[in-house]
Amino acid sequence: MADYIKFLGTAGGRFVVATQLRYSAGTWLSLSGQNIMLDPGPGTLVRCWASRPKLDPRKLDAIIISHHHIDHCTDANVLVEAMTGGGHQQRGVLFASLQALESDSPLCRYMQSFPERTVPLTEDGQYALGRLRFSTVVHRHGVETYGLIFESEGKRLGFVVDTAYFDELAGHYQNCDLLIINVVLAEKDHPATDRHLSLWHAEQIIQQAQPAQAILTHFGMGVLQNKPWQIAADMSQRLGRDIQAARDGMKVKL
Ligand SMILES: [Zn+2]
Repeated sequence: MADYIKFLGTAGGRFVVATQLRYSAGTWLSLSGQNIMLDPGPGTLVRCWASRPKLDPRKLDAIIISHHHIDHCTDANVLVEAMTGGGHQQRGVLFASLQALESDSPLCRYMQSFPERTVPLTEDGQYALGRLRFSTVVHRHGVETYGLIFESEGKRLGFVVDTAYFDELAGHYQNCDLLIINVVLAEKDHPATDRHLSLWHAEQIIQQAQPAQAILTHFGMGVLQNKPWQIAADMSQRLGRDIQAARDGMKVKL
């Protein structure tokens, strides 16, 4: 099947998660024949089955946790159980930061032995899953956090997950065919920019990294109130690039 990604949720920040103004489910990736769940926040299991067509979590080949904040991994436990037939079939791979695996984290210890492999993400890590390759980028987010770059069928797909902006950030994400950016904040000077990107920062990254296509997601309340689709359209016009705002359930073919 051709590569695609599907945003089961687009919520970022605790208020949007608590109110479910946007779903807080993870992103389903189907790349090089591998089914992957990235950052399964609250409600991911439910949104898999509510998806049309349904996405069967028993068919997952891997679950990736970029960091252990609750909006990125609360549903990891139930998804590992689904992927491994309740722990009876040792299959699939769980990739997660060491902090997610070892510290006080929503990931239960008991289920970490269920997958065929449980692999800690590390700085400049290179990983293989069948024919699929991916690597990590160290982010600055207060906890151990990794951005991800997938190489699939000759395409390069980057996920700028939660992070503060820093000068070298965009350099890691050059030449992406599709770049997905978590943008929690509307205001450039918001105090939480010490660990999150604002719209202004996302625009800097797109200008510097020059992806063929960019998608904004993981919206906080301020971004949502300012109509992300309008923001993306304006940004697209300013930069002369294909920039979209993710919607819950949005599927993108690569
Ligand atoms: Zn986070």
